[in-house]
Amino acid sequence: LKKLRLILGDQLNHQHSWFKEEQDEIIYVLMEMRQETDYTLHHIQKVVGFFLAMRNFAKYLKEREHEVIYYHINDKENQQDLAENLKQLIKKNDIEKFEYQLPDEYRLDEQLNEICDSLSIESESYDTEHFLTQRDDLEKFYKGKKQMTMEYFYRDMRKKYDIMMATKNDPEGGKWNFDKSNRKKWTGKPEIPHERGFRKDVSAFLKVIEEAGIKTMGNIDEKSFNWPTSREDGLSVLNYFCKNLLVHFGDFQDALHTEQAYLFHSRLSFCMNTKMLNPKEVIESVVGYYYEHKDEIDISQVEGFVRQILGWREYMRGIYWLKMPGYRRSNKLDNQNELPPFYWDGKTKMNCLHHSITQSLDNAYAHHIQRLMITGNYALLTQCHPDKVDAWYLGIYIDAIEWVEITNTRGMSQFADGGIVATKPYVSSGSYINKMSNYCKSCHYKVSKKTEDDACPFNSLYWNFLDDKKEFFNNNQRMNMMMSLLEKKDAKEIAKIKERATQIIKNPSDF
Ligand code: FAD
Ligand code: SF4
Repeated sequence: LKKLRLILGDQLNHQHSWFKEEQDEIIYVLMEMRQETDYTLHHIQKVVGFFLAMRNFAKYLKEREHEVIYYHINDKENQQDLAENLKQLIKKNDIEKFEYQLPDEYRLDEQLNEICDSLSIESESYDTEHFLTQRDDLEKFYKGKKQMTMEYFYRDMRKKYDIMMATKNDPEGGKWNFDKSNRKKWTGKPEIPHERGFRKDVSAFLKVIEEAGIKTMGNIDEKSFNWPTSREDGLSVLNYFCKNLLVHFGDFQDALHTEQAYLFHSRLSFCMNTKMLNPKEVIESVVGYYYEHKDEIDISQVEGFVRQILGWREYMRGIYWLKMPGYRRSNKLDNQNELPPFYWDGKTKMNCLHHSITQSLDNAYAHHIQRLMITGNYALLTQCHPDKVDAWYLGIYIDAIEWVEITNTRGMSQFADGGIVATKPYVSSGSYINKMSNYCKSCHYKVSKKTEDDACPFNSLYWNFLDDKKEFFNNNQRMNMMMSLLEKKDAKEIAKIKERATQIIKNPSDF
């Protein structure tokens, strides 16, 4: 049977069993398409990163004697649409069976189902062989249980895959969670090793994208593109992380700094989300490195890392498949405002937002606490519509693919799902930001002031948000303390807070 096998841009899994099979009569196809570049406004580095990684993957397959058809973005025969391209290829190559790997995005899942229904030939879907769970595992895990929490899922995963276990049921180090030790501010020490960069010249490729007329956001240094675009690159990022950054990963996981965009974070999300690296191999490498260097590396640094990948990453995927497509429309707090214009240029006097947004525009990257407690926090406090917030996060980060972006944005960051992912909203006043960063030191605003003209905007926005949304939080046990503090504020103070918050929300460009 002559087969056509589709490989999507985020399915660059070198270790997939497809590629170990006899190869007669199999054609693989990869396509750069406007359908994919235009479904949201992407960062330029994201488009470059995905297309270069796809090209490298096609090259890898060809070098191993696989037959590959590759549609470049400006190829004449490229119809720029998945259905059209597939129909054309099936006809032209007398294909008798169409095969694909299950996509991770709902929109592509729907589209591929429709395509298969419309084909007159047989079709079959395969697992991507990437994740440590199946799409519906979370549903099975929480069946009959009242509350879903990541913690119990994570513990179960540790046991199931026997990762950092002392016995069958007991975690190594006597505790499942070392989160409490992961809250240090970074003040210039310990030194952060020099960045692991690739410095690729992508100027020729940028011309291709320009020629195609693709609209993008953000900046790129055309002589020094720093993201990994092959499995080899990905392995070197992983190796670099183990050797240089793991030792302090947990300690400074929540730290923020004006001069350090990456601190001790791994920057592995893009390699994993495109499947150039497998999460299990990442975890095994990191834990293996720790076992060889136990005298230098504390367990808390490693557990924090394992939790992100074995816990959060798989958990978010489970939530996505459990809750889509309704999740995409959730807006439990009924937020309706626009995202402030400075999210697109970083031009604001609020130093924390200025740095987090400028770094995002320059690098297509921000670390978790910048995404959650700076840009996400501000968007929620100013009550922005989750559709607008989602669109921004889906575009700006190189690792943004809907299954992991929407669950983090709508769920963890914007509380739009009403508490499925997070048990309370991740909001804070300026004092948390001051505790974890050096942003406030050189800010136009004073973090210690409340409602004066030069007061930190987060301070009034925080109490205003709790007051505006109290009907949602009055029954939330985890919010009890903050709600009773709000209750204790007198009417005059509340009026001042609300006046200043309204000013900030209504005139974002003045701040
Ligand atoms: P590290 O800090 O080194 O962590 C290691 C790995 O753990 C990451 O590579 C990632 O694969 C995984 N991880 C950590 N936290 C999470 C999490 N909350 N959910 C899932 N995986 C996690 N991550 C994405 O991959 N794509 C997104 O589009 C995305 N959007 C986000 C939007 C918001 C509002 C927030 C708050 C978080 C988002 N995250 C997203 C999660 C997290 O911020 C990124 O995975 C992380 O910053 C990537 O950088 P890193 O590889 O250096 O991570
Ligand atoms: Fe951000 Fe407020 Fe600190 Fe300025 S003072 S950096 S606005 S938290």
